[in-house]
Amino acid sequence: MKYSLKLGRPFGIKISIHWTFLLLIAWVVIIDVQQGLNFQQIMLSVLFILTLFVCVVLHELGHSLAAIKFGSEVRSITLLPIGGMANIRKIPEKPMQELIMTVAGLAVNVVIALILLGILLTRGGLDLEQMDFKTITPRNFLTMLMFVNLFVVFFNLIPAFPMDGGRILRALFSMRMNRLKATRWAKNTGQFFAVAFVMAGLFLNPFLVVIGVFVFIGASAEYNLMKLGESIKAYSASDAMITDYMELAPEETLEKAAETLVHHHENGFVVAANGRIEGILTSNDIIKGLSNNDRGTTVREIMNADYETVAPDASLQEVFQMIQTRKIAIIPIVKNGRIKGIIDKDNIHQFIMVKNAMNE
Ligand SMILES: [Zn+2]
Repeated sequence: MKYSLKLGRPFGIKISIHWTFLLLIAWVVIIDVQQGLNFQQIMLSVLFILTLFVCVVLHELGHSLAAIKFGSEVRSITLLPIGGMANIRKIPEKPMQELIMTVAGLAVNVVIALILLGILLTRGGLDLEQMDFKTITPRNFLTMLMFVNLFVVFFNLIPAFPMDGGRILRALFSMRMNRLKATRWAKNTGQFFAVAFVMAGLFLNPFLVVIGVFVFIGASAEYNLMKLGESIKAYSASDAMITDYMELAPEETLEKAAETLVHHHENGFVVAANGRIEGILTSNDIIKGLSNNDRGTTVREIMNADYETVAPDASLQEVFQMIQTRKIAIIPIVKNGRIKGIIDKDNIHQFIMVKNAMNE
C-alpha cells in the first residue's frame, strides 16, 4: 500500500502503518485538548492507542502465522485507523484450517487479556470502583488495555464478514456443505444479525445502526465476490490475460506516459526494459503525478516498484480475488522473469461476462 510507514519484517511479513493512521492520532489529541487534559495525559492516551495497535498487529500475526502454517503466503500487514489488514494470499479453504486460522487471531487477544489480568491481580486486584474510564491514567492503563482487548474479541465475533465471526461461521457451515453454499448461509446469518443491530440501534444507540449497515454490506460483498470467482474456477491467468498490452520504458517522461494513457485508455502500464519488468504505473499514478510533479519527471521516479505478479498457470480465481480485495489496477503475468501479458480489473470482468453468457 502506498504512503505507509514501514515498521519491520517479522517472519518475512512486511508491517506498515498507513498514513491515515496519523489522522486517528490527531483526532485523539484534539478530543483530549478539548477535554482540557494536560500534556502528560495526552501523551498517555496516544501511548494507549499505540499499545492497542501493537495488540492489533499481534492479532493479525496470529491469523498470518496460522495461514503460513497451512501453506498460504502472507506478504504484509497494514495498520489502518479501523484496525489491521493482513494481506493473505490463498486463504486456506479447508474448513478446519480456516477455522484455526481465524481463531488464532482472536486467541492472541484473549491471551493478552489474561496476561494483563494476571499482572493486575498480582498488583492487588482490579479495583474497578476507583476507575475513571473516561481518561487514561497510569493507574487504569492496563485495566483499560485488558477491556479493549476483550472488546476486540467480542466485536470480531459478530457473525458476519468482514469480521472474524463471519469466517468462523462459514468454516462451520463448510463442514456440512460446499464452500459457496456455506458462504451464502454465512451471509444470510450475518444479514439477519445486521437487521437486528439496526432495529436495536434505533432504540439504543446510533452506533449500532452504523455497525448493522456496515455488516449488511460486508456480508453480501464477500458472497458476491465468491460467486463471481466460482464461475472462473476452472481457468488460469493465461486464459484471460491481455497479450497486446502497452509497455512504458523507465526513462520515458511523465508527459509521454500521459499521452499514451489518453490514446490507449488503459488502467495502467507495465514499466519494462529489455522484456524485464521494473514496475507498474497506474492511470491514477499518472494523473496524480501530473499534479504533483514536473512533466519531465521520468516514469521510473513515480512508478510502483513494489508490485504483485502471478504465473501464467496461477488460478484465475485467485487473480480475481487479488484485484477485488486489494484494489490492484493491473497484474503482470510473469514466467521466468519475462512478462507474458497483463490482467486488469476491466478485462477480468469482461472475461467473466463472456464466460457466463456462453454458459447460459
Ligand atoms: Zn481477525
